[in-house]
Amino acid sequence: MLSLKGIKRIVVLGGGTAGWYTALSLRKIFSDNVEIRVVESTELGIVGVGEGGLLNFQSALRSIDIDLNEFVRETNATFKWGFCYEGWRTGEKDDKYYHPFASSTGAASQWENLGHYPLFSAMINHSIPLTSYLRGFDLIVNNASQAEAALALSSQSVDIINSFHFDSYKIAKYFKKVALERNIIHQDVIVEHVETDERGHVTALITQENEKIELDFLVDATGLARKVIDKVVPSEWFSFKDHLLLDRAIPFYMPHPLENPYLVSRAIAMKSGWMWQIPLQNRVGAGYVYSSKHISDEDALQEIKDYLGFDIEPQQNVIKFEPGCYRQIWVKNVLTVGLASGFVEPLEATSIGQMIETVRNFIRILVTSQGVVSDNAVREFNESNFTSWMEILDFLRMHYDCPRRDTEFWQDVAKTPLTENYRAFKECMQARAPRLMDVESYLLYGRRGMFHIVNWMFVAVGLGLIPHTAVVGDLMALPPESKQRAQNFLDSLKKD
Ligand SMILES: Cc1cc2nc3c(=O)[nH]c(=O)nc-3n(C[C@H](O)[C@H](O)[C@H](O)COP(=O)(O)OP(=O)(O)OC[C@H]3O[C@@H](n4cnc5c(N)ncnc54)[C@H](O)[C@@H]3O)c2cc1C
Repeated sequence: MLSLKGIKRIVVLGGGTAGWYTALSLRKIFSDNVEIRVVESTELGIVGVGEGGLLNFQSALRSIDIDLNEFVRETNATFKWGFCYEGWRTGEKDDKYYHPFASSTGAASQWENLGHYPLFSAMINHSIPLTSYLRGFDLIVNNASQAEAALALSSQSVDIINSFHFDSYKIAKYFKKVALERNIIHQDVIVEHVETDERGHVTALITQENEKIELDFLVDATGLARKVIDKVVPSEWFSFKDHLLLDRAIPFYMPHPLENPYLVSRAIAMKSGWMWQIPLQNRVGAGYVYSSKHISDEDALQEIKDYLGFDIEPQQNVIKFEPGCYRQIWVKNVLTVGLASGFVEPLEATSIGQMIETVRNFIRILVTSQGVVSDNAVREFNESNFTSWMEILDFLRMHYDCPRRDTEFWQDVAKTPLTENYRAFKECMQARAPRLMDVESYLLYGRRGMFHIVNWMFVAVGLGLIPHTAVVGDLMALPPESKQRAQNFLDSLKKD
């Protein structure tokens, strides 16, 4: 059992997006008798990438009482309505498919309890793009301005869950500004050592200047430095490298290629990986994420320049990572969040989304247990967090179940084993369209899924993974009333 009753100080080690977000979330539930202190080193700095939110991002901002208009102003944010995948099938110029953040409003609402499958099956059967039922999707395709998008959102005439693109440095600075206003203490020092007691609980941090910072609970948000997890408190690393090949990234900035900031993040397939392009108000944050087995850092940089047709300056040194996560992120009196807890290539921008869900579930447990947390609750928390990582791994592996074969990298991708969960999901997809139940096993112990079945469908259909034969069977098995509803729905699409 872990009791946080009567504690005096919680230290968050790390002042990146994860550290400040966690500190703000903790501030909301602890009274001012408990000091929340963020200890970070501006000398070491933050990772400085990570500029796209997920479906849970806007509600996460609201949960820590952030004013959305202020957030947009302070972080150069733009609306994010999903992703556009370019070149993942044929590699031709017109090869693109979308994964919009579709909501269950409008035409789709009546099918939600079925995971939308009769509606989607009918559309696949008639080769109608899934995006055609989404109000507001035309704004993405037509590169609408931010003002037009704002108007559409406020008049509720889009079937899209809004998220944001934002500047990674500005978001950390903005969270810090808000945190200081809310009585969160900030200390700018390099932590050298971590002290523990006989139970293995962390009791203090020792700085480079030999200052001792005592604490009752620690949040390790030290990014890829991973100062505490595995080194001080035990945890087991679970590598994804057998299923996902990418392990390097070159981030850079570039000007907008279109008139307005695109309403989606772009994921453009390259020779040995893919390039992200995330449009902010003033610039695009971009990067090539690639497999070091297939291309050198120098050749990757050259490939970026050749692809864009202009010179670029990398924003920082090449980022090296092994895709994977820690199985136990809450160990004794230490919670690990953000990059320190795991990382996988930014396809689908899962990192901050995952961090938000981790913090939400942690806060839920603290509140419902009134600070007296059983070992079982911690074990279940870790299990649900790990299951959520498996959801990310399986979903990302599906993105690589694509027909591109033109370079050694893409040929090796095709030979890379499927994860067991995705294999089973795919096997079913050959016989019927995916159902809600196919992704429900990712939800455990109060944890919400990262993606809805609709998100899986947009990618599966975009990649052509659901055969017509599967959906014909689906439609034939529908009761007459549902068949009629599906037909009415198709007729309404034809009229539009
Ligand atoms: C190439 C790439 C692309 C990404 N794209 C996306 C994306 O599109 N969407 C998304 O959600 N996420 C993305 N991410 C992940 C995203 O960047 C992170 O989830 C997010 O920035 C949070 O980082 P963090 O706070 O965990 O770590 P960091 O920002 O690295 O912060 C770590 C903090 O720990 C401090 N620290 C470390 N060691 C010490 C020490 N010894 N003493 C004191 N302080 C210390 C540092 O000073 C810093 O303040 C991407 C990541 C990479 C690498």
